[in-house]
Order: sequence, then C-alpha cells, then structure tokens
Amino acid sequence: MMHAYFSPDQLLHHGQSFLVGGERKPIPETPERADILNAALTKLGISPSRPADYGLSPIARVHSPEYLLFLENIHQEWRAAGGADIVVPHIHPFDRQGIYPATPAGKAGFHLGDTSCPITAGTWQSARASANCAIAAARDVGAEKTDIAYALCRPPGHHASREIAGGFCYLNNSAIAAMDLRERFGRVAILDIDLHHGNGTQHIFYDRDDVLTLSIHADPAGFYPFYWGHAHERGNGAGLGYNHNFPLPLGSGDDVFLNALDRALETIQRYAPDVLVLACGLDASGDDPFGGLCVSTGGFGKISRKISLIGLPTVIVQEGGYVSPTLGDNLVQFLESFAEARS
Ligand SMILES: [Zn+2]
Repeated sequence: MMHAYFSPDQLLHHGQSFLVGGERKPIPETPERADILNAALTKLGISPSRPADYGLSPIARVHSPEYLLFLENIHQEWRAAGGADIVVPHIHPFDRQGIYPATPAGKAGFHLGDTSCPITAGTWQSARASANCAIAAARDVGAEKTDIAYALCRPPGHHASREIAGGFCYLNNSAIAAMDLRERFGRVAILDIDLHHGNGTQHIFYDRDDVLTLSIHADPAGFYPFYWGHAHERGNGAGLGYNHNFPLPLGSGDDVFLNALDRALETIQRYAPDVLVLACGLDASGDDPFGGLCVSTGGFGKISRKISLIGLPTVIVQEGGYVSPTLGDNLVQFLESFAEARS
C-alpha cells in the first residue's frame, strides 16, 4: 500500500478570487480540488495519514525568515491596518535589494509575485500543513520505509521561490521535500510535470549542483509564468547544466509529452541521483480548465509508468490540476500505473 499524506487543515485556505484580463474571477485553486484528489485515493484503497508537525526548520532550509514571518502574520497586520479580509498587493518593487518594507502594503508587494496568491485567515495554517505532507512523505522514503510516497499537497508549491509567492503557491513543497532528502542522500533530482513551468523550484536551486531540476511544461513564450521556463535556462555558476527545461508547444498531446519525458529521464539517469521528487501537476490534462496541453487519462498512465521504471525511490508531491471531469481519474491512473510498474 502506498504511503500518502493529507491534513484537513489544508482545506482552511480559500483565496476566493484572482485577476484575469483585468477582471475578478473565482480562483480555480479551491478546497474542492483536495476533496476530488482524496476521493481518488479512496478509490485506490489508500487512506492518507495526517502528517506530524515538523516545525519550521525543514521549511527554513528553503524559505527566508522574513518570508515565513510575513506568511504567518500579514493577514492580521493587513486587517489591523484597515485592509479587507484578503491580502492582495497593489504595488511591487523594481527589485528586492532595497530596505525591507515596514508597512503591510509594502510587504505584500515585496513577497507576493502576482494576484493569484491571495492570503486569507487560513492560508498560513494550510500552507504549513501542505508542507508537512511533503516532509512526511520525504521522511518515509528517506528512512527506507517505502520507495514510493505520495503527498497530497494543497495549496501547491512549485511557483513559490525563496521569498516570493505566486501562482496559488506559498511554500515550495517539492523543494522542501528535496532539501529534507538531502539530509540523507547526496544527490536529488526534481522532475516537474505540471502544465506550468516550476519557476520557484528552478529559482531556488539555480546555483546548485546537488539538486538537479527538470520541468516539462507549456511553452512560457505564450503561457504562465511567461518569464521563466525557456530551454536556454540551464543554471548558473556551480549549477550550470543542472537545470533543464522542456517547453512544449501549446496544445501538445501524449506523444509530444512522452517524447520530452524520455529526454528528461535520460538526463536524470546520466545524473544518477539517489532519490527523485516528482512534482506531479495534473493540469496538463486536455480537460483541465487551463487548457494549455492535451494529455489524456491514458497518457498520464504512460507518463507515470515511464517515470516509475527508472526505479528511483520517489516522493510524489501534488502540484496543480484543477476541477474537471477527469481530475480524479487522472490521479487514479497516475498512482496505479506508478505502483504497478514497480511490482
Ligand atoms: Zn500548474
């Protein structure tokens, strides 16, 4: 039976709305996503455990102290300053090298990269619980209790960098899992198959050679996150050659995705990591409301099987994947194929 983690605290965060095309729209990263993913686990006969609280130290290996204090306190500070029940920035610095801002408005613009990472009363508690799921799964694999563990992380994490939230993400769960695994393993690889480029994860490890980062995603020339995820971004300094992006033309289906996956898996095998973190977004589905790629439910099974067959101990961290008729089936197919390929 696959180890899996989820906490009801992860349902507390609900951003309600974000801005698209200048209009306020319902945010697709809803608590309902977690209900659908949990129902998929039930279908597989998996009942997720509630993770322990590992405290802030495993999270602080990835995120800055100012950022963690911000996430914990900003909602209260914002309310006390007369703000609404939701924290959304209205100004951003040109760069982040100046004096650290003192006001709630200044801090919000410093730490929130866009309007799709609003902070509500429950955000910190949910993001902490989501990160604890990733740590719990990483500890099980690290302790060799299992060679596959699944963290039902919500809110997701891969757009969050060291001190900037973005794209529904606050704490970078995949990066936190990878850093926790580094305590036990020399070399870690993070493979991100979410529809969107894992810009936060790339940024966190860009200068490093001990964590290989790879991302397969819709071409950022025409898709969020726009500024990052191009093929020429290969790392910096000691990290040069340890970041690999596989941007795919918008609308690509199973074959194009699987072809890029083959190249990513060859790169992973050349690196010969001890363990894999799989940043598992399911929003590359043709049914996903974001509509960037066209992977089928059967395609997710093939993707999963190929990744499983490289035989690495794997921590599967949930990233995106939004409410659609096939969201639950896609997770069932993914986890089932992953486990079957190992047996
Ligand atoms: Zn995504």
